[in-house]
Amino acid sequence: MADSEFVYELRVCRWAELAWPPEETENDETTYLVARQLGTKQRRWDTVVVECDPDALQARAAFGDDELDSDLLHVVRNAPAEWTWYRDALPEPDYPWRYVREAVHRAAGRGVVQTRKNGNQIQIKRIAPYPDWMRRLIAIENKPDLDASAADRLADQLSHDIETGLADEVWVATAETGATVEPALLEALPVEAGILTTDFSGGVDAAAASVAWHPTAVTPTHSDDYRNSRQLELAERAYGRGWRDYQATMRPDCRHFELRRNGRLLIPWCAAKECHQSSSACSSSCSEFEPEPPAWRTQGWPIDGGPGVGIRQLLEKRAERER
Ligand code: SF4
Repeated sequence: MADSEFVYELRVCRWAELAWPPEETENDETTYLVARQLGTKQRRWDTVVVECDPDALQARAAFGDDELDSDLLHVVRNAPAEWTWYRDALPEPDYPWRYVREAVHRAAGRGVVQTRKNGNQIQIKRIAPYPDWMRRLIAIENKPDLDASAADRLADQLSHDIETGLADEVWVATAETGATVEPALLEALPVEAGILTTDFSGGVDAAAASVAWHPTAVTPTHSDDYRNSRQLELAERAYGRGWRDYQATMRPDCRHFELRRNGRLLIPWCAAKECHQSSSACSSSCSEFEPEPPAWRTQGWPIDGGPGVGIRQLLEKRAERER
């Protein structure tokens, strides 16, 4: 991913966290979670917004901060209120039961179900009902430089999103270049996709984007069950990862790594290269990587690390607060 696209993506994610939905809505009883780079094998979206039921989202916290994958969801969503042999409690899988047993052990290890032995049988019991916390899934494709050829390429991807109907709404975010989006660009994109224009020249705040074209709701093409399950798996990933997890693969432990303020966003800055580094450039293969000097690992920084660990903890805390 080019530097500018990565930085633009972080800006859009932070803006969505501050300002979604982009227009007034009658239902203000909704909480929004934002994540980046989520999708399926076939398609990965830049930014994902999950509309959530606030009470149910709070109840979801009982299952821990980490995401539940599809195997764990199968166990957790069907775990009974009373002790029951897992094969009686869970719906027949379309794969061997030994994989389910493995998932039951994993779920127990995570503390998201209870298990006990009854003779040879493993019995399970839920820790709480798994709440129905996800309402809708919104996909945003970020294209800061949306020229005619980029619009053409994007049109195919958006048409695919609309045809598969996995997201409830599909948007494109693009940098504002004039008063309006070129009509020719609007014409190239499917009418169902909404368009947001952004202006981050004054930093990221809630007013930094506006709607240039309203989306229409996508018509689902799969069965409700299939769609709900796939959406919930994506929502769980959004819950576990958010959009600040870039710090897990970047190098905040490099002496040149900084976070700089850009309005209401903290954004990575490389003091050696004097630019906002991309996540792919800021890796262990970076030729300018230099570890933090040991002397930095004192003086009030976390016991087990220096500023790099401090940066990781700061981003984790912010992700936690948004959840
Ligand atoms: S020098 Fe390389 S590893 Fe260090 S902060 Fe800059 S890009 Fe990241």
